[in-house]
Amino acid sequence: CGIVGYVGNNKSLEVLLGGLKRLEYRGYDSAGIAIIDEDGELGTRKRAGKLQMLVDDLEATPLHNGATGIGHTRWATHGGPTDVNAHPHLGRDSKLALIHNGIIENFSELKNELLAEGATFASETDTEVAALLVGREYEKSGDLTDALRAVVARLEGAFTLLAVHQDQPGVVVGARRNSPLVIGLGDGENFLGSDVAAFVEFTRRAVAIGQDQIVTIRPDSVDVIDFDGNAVEVEEFDIAWDASA
Ligand code: GLU
Repeated sequence: CGIVGYVGNNKSLEVLLGGLKRLEYRGYDSAGIAIIDEDGELGTRKRAGKLQMLVDDLEATPLHNGATGIGHTRWATHGGPTDVNAHPHLGRDSKLALIHNGIIENFSELKNELLAEGATFASETDTEVAALLVGREYEKSGDLTDALRAVVARLEGAFTLLAVHQDQPGVVVGARRNSPLVIGLGDGENFLGSDVAAFVEFTRRAVAIGQDQIVTIRPDSVDVIDFDGNAVEVEEFDIAWDASA
């Protein structure tokens, strides 16, 4: 239900948890994060229940911080609100983490295809299908943007997707169809959010992503393409925000 992404300095944990806190007003039943640390290791943590459950869990058993991360609050549509069904979901080799808002309408057809190839599923979500597919495409191309683009062409329904891969630290990719995604522009750092509340604490400079577009953020760049791979020119706007609200 809420999405936040970050790439920049070694402060993903603070940005992700702060962003998810600001997105709490939208309602949710589970929360989770994935962070790539300086050694290029991907770590994830996810919990059903309030965001505070995740925060308490991270305090009890810390997860490494890092410069690249994604965070999610879930409103369950496929599979009950359990730890396992919470996002992020992983690719086959657990090097890729993916989060999703929305519904993938044709997930059962895609799931059957993956099952026939011997894939195993940890969760009951529609989302895990996308995670396994993007992971599989990454194994072919070695590029997360290309992998996501290959997969969104096959998805039906409404989705905002964000993904990170530990072999591409310093990159967060996102895609959207019938579901919102906004970029936050920083100085040596960039953000993604399902709405500007996700990152307004850190920047007031934003870019809206259009329907059927894919974004790749790095600490010093933001690239947007459409689902056909054509470059899209972006337009920056200032977030008008009453900090006392
Ligand atoms: N359909 C996905 C699920 O049930 C995502 C739901 C959401 O938007 O949070 O896990």
